[in-house]
Amino acid sequence: MKLITIPLRDFALPSPRTGSIEAHSGYGRSAAEGQEIHRRVQKKRAKADPRYQAEVPLSALFDREGYRFRIDGRMDGLFRHDTPQIEEIKTGFNVRELARRLADNSMEHPYSLQLLTYGYFHWREHWTLPALSFHLVSSRSGEFEDLELALDIPLYERWLERRLDELVVEARQAEKRAARRGKIAAGFPFPFENPRSGQIELMEAIEEGMKEESPMLIQAPTGLGKTVGVLYPVLREALSRGQRVVYVTPKNSQHSVAEDAVALFQETRARVKSLTVTAKGKICFKHEPLCNPEYCEYARDYYAKVETHGILAILANKRKLKARTFRHLGEQYQVCPFELQLDSAREADLIICDYNYVFAPRSALRRVTEIGIDQAGKPNLVIDFSRDAAFYFAIRFFWVRCFLFCY
Ligand code: SF4
Repeated sequence: MKLITIPLRDFALPSPRTGSIEAHSGYGRSAAEGQEIHRRVQKKRAKADPRYQAEVPLSALFDREGYRFRIDGRMDGLFRHDTPQIEEIKTGFNVRELARRLADNSMEHPYSLQLLTYGYFHWREHWTLPALSFHLVSSRSGEFEDLELALDIPLYERWLERRLDELVVEARQAEKRAARRGKIAAGFPFPFENPRSGQIELMEAIEEGMKEESPMLIQAPTGLGKTVGVLYPVLREALSRGQRVVYVTPKNSQHSVAEDAVALFQETRARVKSLTVTAKGKICFKHEPLCNPEYCEYARDYYAKVETHGILAILANKRKLKARTFRHLGEQYQVCPFELQLDSAREADLIICDYNYVFAPRSALRRVTEIGIDQAGKPNLVIDFSRDAAFYFAIRFFWVRCFLFCY
């Protein structure tokens, strides 16, 4: 039985997916300011009630079709009263609106499903039905609203069955993805018969550096073929671990260098899948990227449209994902092309994007979650930059395995 660990936040998603792209959708990560508010509320609660405990871990195992899913989470707060109470703290710009959404769609909003899942796991462990409540705090004014949620066990278990079925499908896809990557790595031909002078030394140095898992700073003269010379060993190594490469540049206009290298690999039978992420302002269909369902029809019911039309499966079959494909599918199915890019990242072996998709505090790529099956370590990162050595020191410790800096 294969063990797959999934964070509870990624587990507790509507099944099937519903909702629009908007600030209160419940998909995505909370901002740093939200974490600060969390800490303040938890401190206040602990001072007022000795039976309050913050950040309580909980976990549950589910076996299905040869996989063991382990779901790990952490409750914001638990009041250990006769009837235990689990409190989930959420922040938002407009808490009234957020409260309305949560009250309307208890089984269709990720936040509600998260809280219900805490309640269900607690019930499975202690056989006591806990009280569940949200404490919603406005990040703008500090005003707050409390909202109670009822756990209906049969209703929750119907959702749970559907969600576990989905996870089995995702696990099988992840196995296939890792096997495909391993196969590419094992027979990855160098795209030229004869490497240029200096290219072999460059590739050997990179391979050595990757073995030691140490960041590398690389300088190579123009004309050496350094993009191919860097990407070839880095991709091969990442794919052999079932992983991918993220290639970042300062500007959209510099993506073409990496795209040309991938085209060469693909011409020589390496079935590498690449994704180029275009900036929101450039790919958005509207005059301004104001992402909410009232203003933008491509944001409206985005998650349901993507699921109903099987758009991610269409994208998974393509080897080169660029703005043109996303615009075409976006128009055809009335969905946001920018979000489609991020949602298709799971299958990509090489993601080409700007710095901010990796290094911004609320980096869009970090929300890409996938089942890590037959996969080791973290993605490799290549940073293509121009003589900004200070940047190196600013970003050394991050969520990727290996740093390569080229200029
Ligand atoms: S099309 Fe533009 S405004 Fe609409 S959701 Fe996408 S980025 Fe936002």
